[in-house]
Amino acid sequence: MALVLAGGSVVTSLDPPALASGDVLVEEGRVASVGTSRTPGAERVDCSGCLVIPGNVCAHHHLYSALARGMPYRLDPPASFVQILQRVWWRLDRALDAESVWLSAWAGGADALLAGTTTIVDHHASPNQVEGSLERIADALGQLGARSVLCYEVTDRDGPERAAAGIEENRRHLAAAGGLTRGMVGVHASFTVSESTLAGCVEVARELGVGIHVHVAEDAADELDSESRFGKRVVARLVEAGALGPGSLLAHCVHVDEREVASVVESGAWVAHNSRSNMNNRVGRAPVAALGERVVLGTDGIDGDLFAESKAAYWRGHEADPSITPEWVLARLAASARLAGEAFGEPLLGRIEPGAPADLVVLGYDPPTPLTPENLGGHWVFGLSARHVRDVVVNGEVVVADRRLTHGPEAELRERCRVCAEELWRRVDEIPPHAFHPFEPKEGRLRCR
Ligand SMILES: [Zn+2]
Repeated sequence: MALVLAGGSVVTSLDPPALASGDVLVEEGRVASVGTSRTPGAERVDCSGCLVIPGNVCAHHHLYSALARGMPYRLDPPASFVQILQRVWWRLDRALDAESVWLSAWAGGADALLAGTTTIVDHHASPNQVEGSLERIADALGQLGARSVLCYEVTDRDGPERAAAGIEENRRHLAAAGGLTRGMVGVHASFTVSESTLAGCVEVARELGVGIHVHVAEDAADELDSESRFGKRVVARLVEAGALGPGSLLAHCVHVDEREVASVVESGAWVAHNSRSNMNNRVGRAPVAALGERVVLGTDGIDGDLFAESKAAYWRGHEADPSITPEWVLARLAASARLAGEAFGEPLLGRIEPGAPADLVVLGYDPPTPLTPENLGGHWVFGLSARHVRDVVVNGEVVVADRRLTHGPEAELRERCRVCAEELWRRVDEIPPHAFHPFEPKEGRLRCR
């Protein structure tokens, strides 16, 4: 049935910012018209006093972390980024079983939709539940009605069998992907993969025509490891392996040097910037302005709220560099939607115009000052937040109505999540810190360039 979001102000584009007013008519999953609509029999949702925007895209997420919120921590405090992995995330991922993979995806997906995020680009790890894990995540997100681009994080840190299983899991998902889910080939990071494992990932990505989704230079340890083991920087290693191209997605790029920045820009790869995660892990500032127009925004597992993430990207960026403006934030959100659009073969994703996929968010935002295309960035950074999200439409289907999920028994699933989280935390408690660590050169040893 046709759907009309009636009588709101409509952000038809974030880059460049553009506004229209009137009705958004949705038919067969797509925007049919913006302006006046006369479609008898269509379901009408009153949006007067509201702002209708394209759904937000989270370009780098870890849904498997959703049940770690509030998890107790009893070990010595981590003193470095690598210790955060060894003592927190590489214990949590090994504790995940089939049920906690599904419920983490549901909890993280629900959180994202209720915050106005309609597409999640996820990077998943569950070393003791590799096979079928992406299907479980796709199933949980499918039940919610969210759009996703999934991958399994291939790594050698849990042994060669699991590395091979990870590659196969990417292949399996890519072969089955359709509907609201697509895929990439996931690689953890340079410092946890051998040359042959990396080559195996590149081969599958080439074979299936997708890009590699990998953490790059999140911490200096990644660069030091690559220099020590291979005599080259991380980006050079990825270039030589054939892992860098227009379809690749590089998360973080905090410690890339000038030559690597030039290489990344030249390759046309996407770079996922995760400002809140970078602050939380104290890894440093990414050179986002230099990394250019393909910088997109991710939450890195913190939550699914791109209003909060984009504002943090502005505050954090602007503090150090006045060229990071509210309009820069809008352009990054638009780029994130283009990334998702490429994965789905939908170049109009992220715009509200005839033919675009109907991924739409209705915000209860009746601004106290005039709203124009010129000041939309100011309203975004200083006014809008996830608290304004009222209704969410994905692929033409209403998945959040009046701040409630429309699919599934929400209260019952939330209770199941809490029970599952307690069991998960107990299992994590029994798992020691991971023994894997990046290559650490002896003091005084020359670092190769
Ligand atoms: Zn990440």
